[in-house]
Amino acid sequence: MASQRYSIFSVIKEALVGHTGWMPTWRDASPKADYDIIIIGGGGHGLATAYYLAKTFGLSRIAVVEKGWIGGGNVGRNTTIVRSNYMLPGNIPFYEQSLKLWEGLEQDINYNAMVSQRGVLNLYHSDAQRDAYARRGNALRLHGVDAELLDQAAVRKMLPFLNYENGRFPIHGGLLQRRGGTVRHDAVAWGYARAADQRGVDIIQNCEVTGFRRDGNRVTGIQTSRGFIGAKKIGMAVAGNSSRVATMAGLRLPIESHALQAFVSESIKPFIDGVVTFGAGHFYISQSDKGGLVFGGDIDGYNSYASRGNLPVVEDVCEGGMALMPRIGRVRLLRQWGGIMDMSMDGSPIIDHTPIDGLYINAGWCYGGFKATPASGLCFAHLIARDEPHPIATAYRLDRFRTGHAVDEKGQGPYPNLH
Ligand SMILES: Cc1cc2nc3c(=O)[nH]c(=O)nc-3n(C[C@H](O)[C@H](O)[C@H](O)COP(=O)(O)OP(=O)(O)OC[C@H]3O[C@@H](n4cnc5c(N)ncnc54)[C@H](O)[C@@H]3O)c2cc1C
Repeated sequence: MASQRYSIFSVIKEALVGHTGWMPTWRDASPKADYDIIIIGGGGHGLATAYYLAKTFGLSRIAVVEKGWIGGGNVGRNTTIVRSNYMLPGNIPFYEQSLKLWEGLEQDINYNAMVSQRGVLNLYHSDAQRDAYARRGNALRLHGVDAELLDQAAVRKMLPFLNYENGRFPIHGGLLQRRGGTVRHDAVAWGYARAADQRGVDIIQNCEVTGFRRDGNRVTGIQTSRGFIGAKKIGMAVAGNSSRVATMAGLRLPIESHALQAFVSESIKPFIDGVVTFGAGHFYISQSDKGGLVFGGDIDGYNSYASRGNLPVVEDVCEGGMALMPRIGRVRLLRQWGGIMDMSMDGSPIIDHTPIDGLYINAGWCYGGFKATPASGLCFAHLIARDEPHPIATAYRLDRFRTGHAVDEKGQGPYPNLH
């Protein structure tokens, strides 16, 4: 179990000894015969769950089983935006708790995740959209969450290079959350992995779950590419592969998988301080510390488990960028990739029991799950440890699609590709 603490003193000490004393960030564990709790999926949510199970609930004999490598899934593929400016009562306390956990995360896990509260600005382009944003801002402030409605002059001051006079989508102002921002995505996976490992969690990479073993209605373990592993409780946190893994347990989920693409330009001088989103289409952009413009847009329109996207969406995202800031057309695209999104029917997640005893599910994050990582881990750990939902995650029930208690933040209806 690695127990090295990172600090200015350890950096100085290692500089003096030629960096020969750094320990592995986490152990490369081999599977044991059985555990009390197994989490399937070594993404942000799975690792955070294991960490809080050990830290907050004091549990041990925990393993995280990952089919690839830590950071290879969506946790290392997203556009790194974190915020808590949701409007519905079921969502606000959850996402605000997540943002609060981000604010203290680096101290908590002793890892530099480059949490940067540089602000998230959602632009509005019509009077009706302004009214909707004013309503959202009011709902947030009533819940103690920061939100500021800006007029065009205030936005111009912050971002003078945007296309305010665009004939179709003139920019009238924006809703700003100053506490939102970005976090280095793969560092979150590495940081949680290290912190969980330090508390005794076995992180088992290159170990694909291929089936479940049951005794009656109770799950007793998982079949994997490295053999059978027994467990009293099993949590699924496999994001885009949720429906595939659930099928192995005989469950059919209200989830579709779609690819979402991200884009990074060549490095240029800093000119975008925070995160900016285009309110008349689907386009969001920030600038990384290395100078690359990091941006994205909509999911691909068809269902897929392939983490590569199609060209019409590339064109659509670039159109959004050009409408918002025409100067982006002069920048060269450096790289682009995709990830698989677990799109639920109402655009909101599921953190719940399944109909199978001892099997729990964490899924349906759509393309907003990165910001939720800390709260999702905490709430999933609470559910698994105590067998009851965390008070801030009671809305994320699996049966809400049957009972009609949808949490439809966007108001799009049961069309996963539109959320
Ligand atoms: C391009 C893109 C941009 C995004 N932008 C944002 C953003 O700006 N802000 C935001 O909040 N969210 C964003 N998201 C969404 C966010 O990344 C995801 O919702 C979130 O990361 C999903 O949770 P995770 O980290 O646990 O997923 P993952 O990292 O995908 O973890 C799931 C893990 O399960 C493993 N797994 C799957 N099947 C098996 C199996 N059979 N056995 C063992 N392991 C298995 C996978 O290998 C994977 O490592 C974006 C996503 C993408 C792809």
